[in-house]
Parts: sequence; C-alpha cells; structure tokens
Amino acid sequence: MNKTGFGFLRLPRLNAEDETSIDFSVVEQMVDRYLELGGTYFDTAYTYLGGASEKGIRRCLTQRYPRERYRLADKLPGWKLTSYEQCRECFNEQLERCGVEWFDVYLIHWLNADNYAVCEKHDQFRFLRELKAEGKAKAIGFSYHDGPELLEEILTRHPEVDYVQLQINYLDWDSPALQARRCYEVAVKHGKKVIVMEPVKGGTLAQLPPEAEACLRALRPADSMAAWAVRFASSLEHVEVMLSGMSTVEQVEDNLRSLEPLSDSEREVLAGVADLLRAETAIPCTACNYCAPNCPMKIAIPQYFALYNDYARKPAEGWKMGHAYQSLARTFGKASACITCRACERNCPQKLPITDHLKSVAKAFE
Ligand code: SF4
Ligand code: SF4
Repeated sequence: MNKTGFGFLRLPRLNAEDETSIDFSVVEQMVDRYLELGGTYFDTAYTYLGGASEKGIRRCLTQRYPRERYRLADKLPGWKLTSYEQCRECFNEQLERCGVEWFDVYLIHWLNADNYAVCEKHDQFRFLRELKAEGKAKAIGFSYHDGPELLEEILTRHPEVDYVQLQINYLDWDSPALQARRCYEVAVKHGKKVIVMEPVKGGTLAQLPPEAEACLRALRPADSMAAWAVRFASSLEHVEVMLSGMSTVEQVEDNLRSLEPLSDSEREVLAGVADLLRAETAIPCTACNYCAPNCPMKIAIPQYFALYNDYARKPAEGWKMGHAYQSLARTFGKASACITCRACERNCPQKLPITDHLKSVAKAFE
C-alpha cells in the first residue's frame, strides 16, 4: 500500500489572499489522479482553510467516490472547545461538512503543553474512546507539536490511542528545537503507528539552494528535491502514513512515485544537506499560518518571512522583495506594528521567535 496521504491544507486557490477560495476543478483532478495511482488516505481538520477544507473533501471526494475507496482522517479542535458537550457538537458538524457517517482516523488536533491542559480539562480522550466504541471513529489519536518528554507523559496516560501524528522531515530530524527523531522514538516505544506531517516542511525542502540541490542531483539526477524529502519520511519503518500537502497534479504524481527506500549512504548525504540548509535559511517558517489569525495587529507573518528569506538569499534583488512588502503592508499590519503580545509565538509549531524575526523584517523593508 502506498504510504502517501493527501493533506487537504495547501490546496490550490483562485485568490492567493483568500484561503477559502479553493480551485475545485484542479483539486478534483488531483483527487482522481491520487486514487488512480494507489493513494487511499485523506486528511483534513475542522480549522483548515477556515472550514473550507472539510467542505472541499465533501465536494471533491466523498460525493464522487464510494466510501470503501478511501480512508478519511479528521481532527477535533480541542483547544477551541470549552466543554465536553461541545466535542460532540463539533464532531457532528464535521461529519456533515465532510459528507460521511464515520471517520477512519479521528485525532485531537495540535497537542502541545497548553492545548493538552485544555484537552484533559474537558476529558477529550474519553470522547475519542466513546467514538471508537460507537464505530464513528475506527481509530483514534492526536497530532502533536511539542517535545519528547510531554509525548511520553501523554502516551503513558493514554495507552488507548492508535496513532500519533508527528512533524518529521530530514531537516527537523535532529533539530534541537523540534526533536523529531526523539518524538518518533517515543511513539515507537509505546507501540503507536505514526502519521507524518510536513515531510517537505511546508515546501521548504522542495526548492533547495544550488549547493544543496547539486549534492542530491549528483546521486539521482532525475529525482525532484521533494522526492528526496518524501523518501526520507516514508522510509521510516513505523510510519504508516506520510501526509503531503500537494497543490498540483504534477506534485501528486511526483509524490506517489517516489517511494523507493533510502539507503544508508543517501541518509548521510541528506544529513549533510540539512546542515547546509540550516546555515542558509534565515527564518525556518513553514507557512502553516497557525500564527497570523491570532495577531491583533493583522501582521502577515508568513508572507513577510518568505520575503525576508528571499532577501537574505539574494540581497542584490532586495528591491523586488521591498516592493512586494510595501504592497502587502497596504492590506496587512506592518512588521513594525508588532506589540510583542506573543500570541503568535504560542501557536507556532516551529517555535520561532517571531517577534525578533519581525524586527529584522522591519529593518530590511521599512
Ligand atoms: S507578538 Fe506581534 S506579531 Fe505576534 S501576535 Fe502579537 S502583535 Fe502579532
Ligand atoms: S511563523 Fe510559525 S506559525 Fe507562523 S507560519 Fe511560520 S511556522 Fe507557521
């Protein structure tokens, strides 16, 4: 079975500024090609694309294909809920939005220290156990964005979960901030199946600086950079599903054909490429956009960071990024408008010092 799961988050848009403006005609083609090539697993969440992701699942998948043709995973936005009863209301809304009667996998979304406290307060794991007993969720678990120590604690308290969804890619594998390798090892020790998110790190690993790309091209000239990242994650023994946030039919085809396991020597080359990338990327933002909706100053955090990374790579072309910045700053708050409330930093899965980086952005572009 192909391990590549289809993440319904980075879908093509008709309007780049509007996350809900999904280009359904392209997504339908992507879904068709994905199923044709042997993919079966689709992943969405209540909060993705302001709710448009779940509706997209209904329109592009569940209304067009029989239930036995695919597996569907969805996630409870536990941190938004203020009572146990709300879990059921939210779940029923998700079934309706997606156009299904049950989910194959149902996860508590985005557990970290803060969200785990909310989750325990409202007994959300009990809710998941009930769903499983009712057959409304065939398997249960959680997606996770914190360190190995907390993961150990959660899995010890909740041996009932089937899956843990982790951010794993070759850049974060030995990252001191994200500790992907240690989180994976904790999940394996507890006998859990692992779902990987961000194998291409929000697209960061699909386009590498020339020196890093040359290292990989020398070994496999025909392979895309994304294919290397996908092979890294899917080669891990206990990974059952590796989610890919695909935006074009070509990316679907590339990701589904790229599953030959990595050799030990290739793994070493990727570790060297990761060192190069860490040295070259000024702000390792994945453009997940978990930060910006909480910003009281409406600062376009991921867009500004992308511009700053371009500027850091090609300072001679900084004027182009400067124009793009000024254009964005007419609609969104400027980087210098940050009031350091740190609401964004609490939500950043990459644990970036966003407020410090915004100072660099302001210095470069204002
Ligand atoms: S710290 Fe700055 S960027 Fe972050 S949420 Fe507050 S105002 Fe927005
Ligand atoms: S700053 Fe953090 S939360 Fe915001 S888009 Fe980048 S990685 Fe995501």
